[in-house]
Formats: sequence, C-alpha cells, structure tokens
Amino acid sequence: MPERGGRGSVRGVKLVVQVKLLPTPLQAAALEATLHACNAAATWASQVAFEKNARRNFALREHTYTQVKERWGLGAQAAQHVIKKTCDAYAALAANLKAGNLGKPWSKRYRKAAEKPVAFRPESAQPYDDRMLSWQIPDRTVSIWTLSGRMKNVAFTASPEHLARLALYRRGESDLLFRDGMWFLNATCEVREAEPATGVEEFLGIDLGIVNIATTSDGQIMAGRAVNRGRLRERTLRTKLQRKNTPSAKRRLKKRRRKEARRAKDINHKISKRVVAEAERTGRGIALEDLTGIRERVRLRKPQRATHSSWSFAQLGAFIAYKARRAGVPVVFVDPAYTSRTCAECGHLDRANRVSQAWFACRSCGFVDHADRNGSRNIRRRAEELWRRGAQSTAPDPPPRPGRGTGRKPSTTASGARCASPGTSAPGR
Ligand SMILES: [Zn+2]
Repeated sequence: MPERGGRGSVRGVKLVVQVKLLPTPLQAAALEATLHACNAAATWASQVAFEKNARRNFALREHTYTQVKERWGLGAQAAQHVIKKTCDAYAALAANLKAGNLGKPWSKRYRKAAEKPVAFRPESAQPYDDRMLSWQIPDRTVSIWTLSGRMKNVAFTASPEHLARLALYRRGESDLLFRDGMWFLNATCEVREAEPATGVEEFLGIDLGIVNIATTSDGQIMAGRAVNRGRLRERTLRTKLQRKNTPSAKRRLKKRRRKEARRAKDINHKISKRVVAEAERTGRGIALEDLTGIRERVRLRKPQRATHSSWSFAQLGAFIAYKARRAGVPVVFVDPAYTSRTCAECGHLDRANRVSQAWFACRSCGFVDHADRNGSRNIRRRAEELWRRGAQSTAPDPPPRPGRGTGRKPSTTASGARCASPGTSAPGR
C-alpha cells in the first residue's frame, strides 16, 4: 500500500517508442529480404490456419513450424513469431467481427473478411524479441537478425528523451517496419507510473473544442486558429488530388494524410503535456469530458464537420489520460451534456446563454465569459462533485460505462484507468 499522499507503489504503462533506422544499402537489402520472407511465410501459414481451422498458436505450430523454417530460411525465433503473428491476426479479426466493426454477418464486408484467409502485405510489421534484436543505446545502434545472418551496427536516430526512455524502460518485443521508404523499429517500453496522488480536492477542467482545441478552467487557451488554417489549406489540396484520381495522386494523398495525422498527433502531445504539467504543478486532478459517442451527439454544419472529424478529440483525451496516469494525477471523466449552455456562476441552463461561438452570457445572472472557459469551469465543477461523492462512497468500482447513445450518465474513474489501462499501447513521448 502506498503511503497516504505519497507516490509509493508503481504500476506499468506500456507505450511505444518509434526509432528510425539508418541502414546502409547492404543492411537495407537484408532487412527487406527478411521482412518479405517473414510475411510470405505468414501468408502461407495463414492459409494453412484457414484450411485446417488451426488458428491457435499450438495447433498451427504443429502444421507449419518445420516448413516455415525450411522453406523461407527463418530461424527458430522468427518462425515462432511468424506463427504467433498469424494467430494474433485471426484473433483480432474474430474480435472485430464479433464487435460488429465489419458490419453484420450477411454484409459484403463481413463476408469478405471472414470467408478468406488473412493475407500479409510484404511490408507488414514483424515482431522481434531480445534474442533476435539487441540494442546498443549509447552507440545508437542495434544488432538485428536477418536472413543473411546477424546484422551488427545498424544505426538509428532518436531524440534524447526517447533514448532515455529506451534505456530505462524498454522491455519485450519490438516491431520492424517499413513505411514511406523508411525503416523503423517500434520498441515497447513499460514506463512506471506513479500511484495517483491522494488528497487532491481541486480539478483543472478541460473543454475540448473545434476553434480552441483545449481551454482550461484557468482560462488558458491552447492552439486553435493557426492549426485550423493549416488544416483548411491541406483540405483544399486534398480535394484537388482526390479529383485527379491517378495512381500518383493517390500516393501523394496517402502520404499527405499520414503527414497531417502526424502533425495532429504532435500537437495533441504538446497540449496534453502542458495540461498535465499544469495540474501536477498545482496539485490538482484533471477533469475531462467523457467523449463516448461524440460523433453521434455533435451535429455540425458542413465546413466544420471536416475539421472536426480530422481533429482527433479522442486522441487528445487519451494522451491526457495516460500522461496524467504516468504522473499520478487523477483524471475524472464527466458527462459533457449542456456544459456549453449552463452558467458556471449560477447554474442557469438556457440555450440562449451561448450568444456566439466565442461568447457566453447568462440570461439569469448576467455573467459573461469566454464560452469555452465557461464550459471548462462546468466540467471542473462536475468532476469535483463526482470526486467528493466517490471519496465518500465505499464502493470501490466506478459506475459501469454508459453504452453508445446513452452517454448521459456521469462516469468516473479515480486514476483514469479507463483510458490507459496496462496492456494498452499508447504512443510514446
Ligand atoms: Zn448565471
């Protein structure tokens, strides 16, 4: 048990640190041959799994292990990883089918996925364990197994922050992948997180928005106009490329989409870092909107819709939650209904309170504030109420998570456990 108010015992949060490899042409050729062989073997093993209905590791290994090793020249470890990767792909497919992510069982999409073996692209990611890959972090090199033997001194680049994280927390498998003409390793790190601070009474409320991406109850506004402007420019260009519809336009489109996603992710990382640092510095918890079903709830005019969906609120929420968890800052999720129409001063609820996109003016008490700041103060207040109630009640578990479409009930979790539970991979930084 941790001491009261202390940050005693630790748990792990898994996250991924991506490093870029800088192979020599010779090394790159060996990596390519290896990745292609692993994926060809996986596609073959997948056919066997499909035909013999042997989709579990042990069963599939019996049918494929020797052949995978001999036909593709893979070592024992690589062969096992190929088989495990195949089984994992079937497990993921089964879960997706069951969850309805591919439509109803009679739909074309569902049947297309269910009625043929899983195939692997030649450049699909391949897992490496510590016997096949070793890290020389001070030298920024790895030594990695390939079809042409162990390849030593493969250089990589990473920021000082990532290097430190790798040195301290890297554990278990890494994935080798090839994307946009570059080689990467995704290393799994298990970062120890602090026990949530006890004795927290106040919260920092965060309102997530379209114009202002995040506004705190302290009145701090994060990012906004410049980001949206860049996104608009990007969208115009994309529409142009979409119209062209040639193979090269499609390629460029894909590249741009990834680039924009990276940029959005980067901004989300920066915002979440600032938010968590501020809460930690002032000894407060963080109050966030529960964004379950935000797409269904929010109806927007057309030009806004594009910016809205391309901006990933869910991602920002998840980043804040896991960074908070790492720092031992409690996170409470609240029902966001009517936070934009309710007066943070007197509680009066009226649609007309929201006089414009930017401004809030209470019809009852005359209180005037930035609309988003007013919203974030409501979020803060709701979180503090829930937190107090939670501290009084003896029930250890948070109420069940509201289902889709009923996202009205408040749900709370003291440690933010819902968003970044151990075992979930969160992007590293
Ligand atoms: Zn009022």
